[in-house]
Amino acid sequence: MEIYNTLTRKKETFEPLHPPHVGIYVCGPTVYGDPHLGHARSAVSFDILYRYLLHKGYKVRYVRNITDVGHLENDADAGEDKLAKKARLEQLEPMEVAKYYTDRYHDMMDALNVRRPGIEPCASGHIMEQIGMVQQILDAGYAYVVNGSVYFDVVKYNRHYHYGVLSGRVVEELLSATRGNLEGQEEKRHSVDFALWKKAPPGHIMRWKSPWSDGFPGWHLECSAMGRKYLGEQFDIHGGGMDLLFPHHESEIAQSEIANGCRPCRYWMHNNMITVNGQKMGKSLGNSIMLEEFFTGRHPLLAQAYAPMTVRFFILQAHYRSTLDFSNDAMQAAEKGLKRLFDAASVIEKLPLLETTDYTAEVDGITQKIYEALDDDLNTPVAIACLFDAVRLVNAASDGKERIGKVAVEQLRQLFNDIVSGVLGLRDDRQAGNNTALLDGVIRMVLDMRAAAKANKDFAASDRIRDELAKLGVVVKDAKEGSSYSLQ
Ligand code: ZN
Repeated sequence: MEIYNTLTRKKETFEPLHPPHVGIYVCGPTVYGDPHLGHARSAVSFDILYRYLLHKGYKVRYVRNITDVGHLENDADAGEDKLAKKARLEQLEPMEVAKYYTDRYHDMMDALNVRRPGIEPCASGHIMEQIGMVQQILDAGYAYVVNGSVYFDVVKYNRHYHYGVLSGRVVEELLSATRGNLEGQEEKRHSVDFALWKKAPPGHIMRWKSPWSDGFPGWHLECSAMGRKYLGEQFDIHGGGMDLLFPHHESEIAQSEIANGCRPCRYWMHNNMITVNGQKMGKSLGNSIMLEEFFTGRHPLLAQAYAPMTVRFFILQAHYRSTLDFSNDAMQAAEKGLKRLFDAASVIEKLPLLETTDYTAEVDGITQKIYEALDDDLNTPVAIACLFDAVRLVNAASDGKERIGKVAVEQLRQLFNDIVSGVLGLRDDRQAGNNTALLDGVIRMVLDMRAAAKANKDFAASDRIRDELAKLGVVVKDAKEGSSYSLQ
């Protein structure tokens, strides 16, 4: 299996340090807000890696953390703690905020059929480990204490190692870019240095005793400390979103190199970002769509509600290293495609078992192509395209256009079981009593009838349909291109 290693910037054959064991660490969410499409993309991308390695017979220890302390508003160690701010605004304990959004994250990821990691450590539960690592870095001479805070000396580190090895950033350029812009960071020797420990200001709730001050750990530190605790000083794969490459992962490498004497892992994998109708997704742009909004259709950018499996399938239709552009057209295409896939899966169960070996070689060929695609840096879009070759074959057999032998039928059943539900994690929720697709179909049919009434200038009927739907919690939105709806 080949995976693209961000560290070496090329595809490499994956060789675990201690086969059949594989250790994976993925940066999880900072639990201060509801999960959005970006969270889903990262979780689903690494879920495919996890599932595929398990499918290949590896014994995987999958660690994904929860950040509940130390992530400040500004990545350069300035601003308020994201969680503490939320707690202050909502008059809650930080632990209440963390628990609530951790639960929300779990609920949404469960709906997307993302397998939970084997270990899910949180930063606030590993303060001792983080203090231990800060002490090691201080002892090695690569950190300094100022007014009770501890900073990593990036400039000194870069003299002996390479800060920027992962992201391609150059320390000298970073220094000149940030010259004169040290607001809130006056304690640092250089603007590129980062906090390992911060002294808590008066009134700061999240604080722990340490040899340097009552304070809290720097954001990058938790992943180095928890990765080492559960996966050892060097493990196989570290993953996360591309937005974490710098400074988070770059700084993780520096910390681990000093504390452990080696880089934390051999392969770095990063999933790309999401754009919305071609634009960068962001809270400030108003185009950040929460997962719950997808599931209910309640967001101005959504033409309708989308079932969790549609969201998952939509994510898998792009390679994890490409940007993924959200649009209603793309989502509706995903919804249709997924329905065809599930329909074919149920058709397979009803195919006659003919005593021939017809189409065995064809199904073998499709299966092989799918494994080649997945072995090629988890190329899910190609694997899915090959699955649709199988779908066409199944439909032709069902229509009586092709005679498929029972061996090939058994192979198809195995393929759908292993790949569609096993590796891609696509679960047919229609059979589990989730009637999203059915409901959507019925509402669309009613809207078509209303459009016909309107076309006949029967506005009384058209209005009555709209009002009756509203009573049932279905809000109809009229636009030039036609009507859409959302569920209340
Ligand atoms: Zn991390």
